[in-house]
Amino acid sequence: METQINIKKLSQYCFVCGYNFENEPEESFRLVVFTNTCDCCLFQYGVDETYFGPSGLMSYRQDWIEKGLPYRGEIFSEYLVWTLNDALKQLHNLKKVNMDMYFNHLIALDNKDWTSDIDEDRIKIYWNIFRSGSS
Ligand SMILES: [Zn+2]
Repeated sequence: METQINIKKLSQYCFVCGYNFENEPEESFRLVVFTNTCDCCLFQYGVDETYFGPSGLMSYRQDWIEKGLPYRGEIFSEYLVWTLNDALKQLHNLKKVNMDMYFNHLIALDNKDWTSDIDEDRIKIYWNIFRSGSS
């Protein structure tokens, strides 16, 4: 009898905004796992999905975009330079993940609408609404 062991590859990128968890100084926060919170969009894994339902990741992403893609909840920050290019570059990290890398297979099955596709034009519109005069 054959025993197959599947070692699941966990994601280092946020499924909502593409933030790279490897930027975290503490090793225990460097993967998307239960209770880890994204430092950029503030999505709390294992908690917010249950609150936002089976489309939680996508609806949270849309909401984050429509709030102007804030970093840590802030549009303007004294300690951080967060540009449109940074946001777009980060969102392109979504191409490096798929729902099979999600730590909770039930959430992965639920989130059928999850996509790594991003609408750059829409993002630029919301970015500019919240930062009039800058690009
Ligand atoms: Zn995030």
